[in-house]
Amino acid sequence: MMKGKTDHKATTNELKHPNLQEYDKLYNTFSWEDEYKHLNGLSNGKGLNIAHEAIDRHAESHLKDTVAIRLIRKNNTVQDLTFSDMKKRTSKFANVLQELGMVKGERVFTLTGRIPELYITALGTLKYTAVFCPLFSVFGPEPIFQRLHKGDATILVTTRAFFEKKIIPLVDQLPSLRYIFLTDVEDHLSDKVKSLPVLMEEASDNFTIPDTDPECPALLHFTSGTTGMPKGALHVHNAVITHYTTGKYVLDFHEGDIFWCTADPGWVTGTSYGIISPLVNGITSIVDEEEFDALRWYALLEEQKVNIWYTAPTAIRRLMRMDIIPKESYHLENLRLVLSVGEPLHAAEVRWGEQAFGMPILDNWWQTETGGIMIANYLSVRVKPGSMGKPLPGVEAAIAEIKDNELKIITEPEAEGHLVLKIGIPSLFRNYIHEEERYRKCFIGDWYVSGDLAKRDTDGYFWFIGRADDIIKTSGHMVGPFEVESTLMKHEAVAEAAVIGKPEPSIGELVKAFVVLNSGFDADDETRLDIIGYARKTMGPAVAPKQIEFIDSIPKTKSGKILRRLLKARELGLPEGDTSTLEQN
Ligand code: ATP
Ligand code: MG
Repeated sequence: MMKGKTDHKATTNELKHPNLQEYDKLYNTFSWEDEYKHLNGLSNGKGLNIAHEAIDRHAESHLKDTVAIRLIRKNNTVQDLTFSDMKKRTSKFANVLQELGMVKGERVFTLTGRIPELYITALGTLKYTAVFCPLFSVFGPEPIFQRLHKGDATILVTTRAFFEKKIIPLVDQLPSLRYIFLTDVEDHLSDKVKSLPVLMEEASDNFTIPDTDPECPALLHFTSGTTGMPKGALHVHNAVITHYTTGKYVLDFHEGDIFWCTADPGWVTGTSYGIISPLVNGITSIVDEEEFDALRWYALLEEQKVNIWYTAPTAIRRLMRMDIIPKESYHLENLRLVLSVGEPLHAAEVRWGEQAFGMPILDNWWQTETGGIMIANYLSVRVKPGSMGKPLPGVEAAIAEIKDNELKIITEPEAEGHLVLKIGIPSLFRNYIHEEERYRKCFIGDWYVSGDLAKRDTDGYFWFIGRADDIIKTSGHMVGPFEVESTLMKHEAVAEAAVIGKPEPSIGELVKAFVVLNSGFDADDETRLDIIGYARKTMGPAVAPKQIEFIDSIPKTKSGKILRRLLKARELGLPEGDTSTLEQN
């Protein structure tokens, strides 16, 4: 299929010792100040700018001709951008912003597929110290409007097709939107709607990054909208320390590595790890313009000699359903790390990695709000399948009981409670835009309350229980839907499951499961009773679902998260709420 020239020398994986060798030792001696010293900073000794760390410093080093981003276009052509190319093009973009009188802190949005202009805009905007906000291109006009409006967009970079289809109807309702740059028109359409190629052509490729306060706003990311209306989490340039550190210790980046993060930059993973982290660590990132396609993905892993692959449970589940053992059908000798984020990764999925790739899939946990990986499995630490792993060095994670806005840390192992993080993490968000009150409510004393429930075992591993909003209270028990779903999925008939609590006066809530069946199984009472029987036997009658409904597909967000609130609203005949991020099947 698509063969791009590989102009780096692939070092064999055996020669690469994990960057994180002894977890406990590193955890106990780690300091963010020391990590900061690995970055360049800016001339005044205090400044910190993401684009400088990701691009300019490498463009002035021995890495200048190394491929920073390799784009695999839809037509399978390969387009390489070296660190040196990226420096020039992002400087041009920064100069375009300057020419047009953009003010520091104003917001530049993108609505494009994964094309070069998206990456140039992201880093050029950061260079200029404006704020970058990527939108997922499959959004329709309403979610686009909500985000542009709430995020006070000043500039939007998009394509002609998206402009005509999705933006023209909104323009009049967006008074703060001063310019729209189109990536694929030869001439300016008006004073407001401009040709990006023309602007870039006219701009100088020399730009000096201003002294950037590490607390200067850099990125605006909307959450996935799994539990309600998406929130706009604001991050600062200081976040780059987390991007650097997690790249080094979790993704285990080594010079010469080829990395592929499958997430779209419209979700935080696709920006923190699809753009920033690999670049800051000076390695090559693969970007595929196409959407999920199992055979294309396997071929890409082989042909691009990917060493480290970061993907999501929904993709892993789709791959698992196919009759292919990739390591037998493809040359994947270069692959040494497969990681997953976004949703719980079931133990069976972690183990499938061993069969499919010859290594367990390493789950990790974080959120839009945390800006980077916070809890992870590491190459050098024993994996307990089904666990999210251990806190990143520098991150103090704990389980807490919260009552009347009082927070008590529970130190006993195995206790279930709120997953909280001690403040002081460089990439933790600095606000929910236009929702200050909501932002403040996320913090109690020195702790950030994540909204997820978890437990920690005696060895210090964290286990996901569920989202606090999804937890089911039944006959005096607290039941996490994830635990029930995990068990149901072990039954041979069950392909996917989503579990909710349905109000039932006698017991509080009744556990109800929505199940997608594997092919070859009938959606009848016999199957239903068999699954319920299995669940009662393995989980106990108090926790096992009392009702099972067969459905064709489980509603999910576009980033692959189960929308339990939607199933619940439908079940109870309530309004569906915000469905802007719902994946349409
Ligand atoms: P919203 O906040 O709008 O409801 P969201 O929480 O889904 O949406 P994200 O920030 O994209 O938005 O997702 C973070 C959440 O995803 C976490 O809080 C957690 O519930 C879930 N998550 C992420 N990684 C994992 C993981 N490894 N295991 C379990 N859950 C995970
Ligand atoms: Mg959330």
